[in-house]
Amino acid sequence: MTGAGRAGNGWRGERLGHFIGGDWVAAGSGRTYLDHSPWSGAALCEVAAGDAEDARRAIEAAHAAFGGWAGESPRRRQQVFLRAADILEGRRAEVLDALADETGCGRHFGDVQVDFTLRLLRQAAHLAYRPVGELLPSDVEGTQAMAVRRPVGVVAAIAPWNASLTLSGRAIVGPLALGNTVVLKPSEEAPYTGGAIWAEILHEAGLPAGTLNVVTHAPGEAGDIGDAMLANPLVKRINFTGSTPTGRRLAEKAGRRLKRLVLQLSGQNPLIVAGDAEVGYAVDAAAYGAFVHQGQVCMCARRVYVERPLAEEFAERFAAKVAALPTGDPHDPETVVGPVINEWALALLDRRVNEAVERGARVLAGGTPRPPCYPATVLTDVPDEAEIAHGETFGPVVILEAVDSAEEAVARANRSDLGLAASIITGDSRRGLRLAAKLDVGIVHVNDQPVNDEPHMPFGGVKDSGWGRFGLGFAAEEFCELQWVTVRDQDRAFPF
Ligand code: ADP
Repeated sequence: MTGAGRAGNGWRGERLGHFIGGDWVAAGSGRTYLDHSPWSGAALCEVAAGDAEDARRAIEAAHAAFGGWAGESPRRRQQVFLRAADILEGRRAEVLDALADETGCGRHFGDVQVDFTLRLLRQAAHLAYRPVGELLPSDVEGTQAMAVRRPVGVVAAIAPWNASLTLSGRAIVGPLALGNTVVLKPSEEAPYTGGAIWAEILHEAGLPAGTLNVVTHAPGEAGDIGDAMLANPLVKRINFTGSTPTGRRLAEKAGRRLKRLVLQLSGQNPLIVAGDAEVGYAVDAAAYGAFVHQGQVCMCARRVYVERPLAEEFAERFAAKVAALPTGDPHDPETVVGPVINEWALALLDRRVNEAVERGARVLAGGTPRPPCYPATVLTDVPDEAEIAHGETFGPVVILEAVDSAEEAVARANRSDLGLAASIITGDSRRGLRLAAKLDVGIVHVNDQPVNDEPHMPFGGVKDSGWGRFGLGFAAEEFCELQWVTVRDQDRAFPF
C-alpha cells in the first residue's frame, strides 16, 4: 500500500482517506484497515479507520457548507448532477470492475446499479427546479399563507455494501439535490464503491467542498460513528439502509433525541404463483427474484408459494433451472451466482440451511457451500420454527411451499414481522391486484418478481422493514422541513 490520504484516480493498492471539507484526509487516530475482495481474498486498498472524532469533523464541515449549498441557484445545482452522471457514464467499465472486486457484484447487477444511478442523478438534476411550496387559502382577511419546503441542514447517511453504488447514491443524492449537505458512512465492506467513488464523482462534477463528506471505519466499529451522528445536534436527519436489528438499535437511540430517521430494513419477501400462471415465466421470474446478486438484495424473493395444481411441475422445473445457474468468478459475464460478501455470511448461510434440514427441510437444489460462493439453493418442507423461515437470510437460499390458494399464501406471508416487497404471478391480473391490496408490504409487483427499483418510485417497507420512503419526489417529505409562513397586507384588528 502506498500514498498518504487519497490522491488522484485508481484505488487498488492505494490508501483511501476520509473525504472531509473537500480534502482527502487520514483518520485522526492514523488507523487504517484493509478492504478485501470477497472473490480472491486479496487486499484491495487500505482504508481510513475512522471514529467519532472523524465523524464530528465531517459533520462540522457539512454544517459549514450548508448555507452556501442551500443558497446555490437551481441551475448550478442541476449542473452538478448532470455532470456527475456524465462522469459516471464515462467510468462505467472501471466502476463495474470495482463493484466486482469489492463486493463480488456480477456484470448484470453491476449494470443495474450503474443504470439506476445514472437515472437517479439525472432525475435529481430536475429536482432543483421542483416547486418549493404552495400558497394556501386563509380565512383571515388580509393574510397570505404559504407552505414552504426548506432543506433541513446536515443529513447523515448510513449505507450497506450489497448494492453499494446505488444504495449510497439514493442515500445522498436526494438530500443533496434538495439543498442539504451530507455525511456519508458507507459499509466497511464497500468503502470505495459505496463511499470514496461518490466523493470523487461529485467533487469532479463541481459539488462545493464540504457539501458531501465521507467517513469510513474498520469492521465492527460502525457504532461509534453512528452514535456520533445521533448525538450531534447539527445532524438533522439520518437515513439508514441495512438490517432490522441495526435499524432498531438506531431508532431506539434516535427516539430519545427525537431525531428523525428514514429506515430501509430487512425483507422476507414472498413471491406467489397462482395456479393459472404460465409456469415457464413463473420459474424464470422466481429464479431471477431469488438469486440476482446471489440473493443479496433486500427485495429478493425469500419464499415462493405455489398454488397446488402447479406446485409439482413448478418445483421440478425451478430446481432444475436453479441447479444449473453458473456459479463462480463475478468478473466472468456468464456467472449468475458470485461469491457472498464474506466468510461470516457464508458460515451463516451454511448454518441456517443445516438447521432447517435438521428440522426436516428437504434440499431441492444447492445446499453445500462452494467457498467463497454459496450455490443457489432451494429448500422445501421448511418448518416454521426454522430460523430461515422467519428471519431474513441474506443470500442465495429460497423456500418453496405449496399452498391451497394464493389467499392462503397472502395470509402466511402476512405472518412475517417484515413487510418490504412482494410479487404475484397470475394469469388474472385483476385477481393479482386484489391480492396485492391484502399484502402487508410497502411494494408489490403483479406479474413480475420483487426486485425492482426506479429513482422516483416510493421505495420502502412497512412493519419491521422500516419507515419512510426513498424516491426522489418523496424524499422531499423526508429531507425537508415544511414551514408555514404568513404575510399580512394590512394591519389586523386585535381584541385588546
Ligand atoms: P448488513 O448485514 O447489510 O451489513 P447492517 O445493518 O449490519 O446490515 O449494516 C448496514 C450499515 O449499518 C453498514 O454501513 C454498517 O456499517 C452500519 N452499522 C452497523 N452497525 C451500526 C451501528 N451500531 N450504528 C450505525 N451503523 C451501523
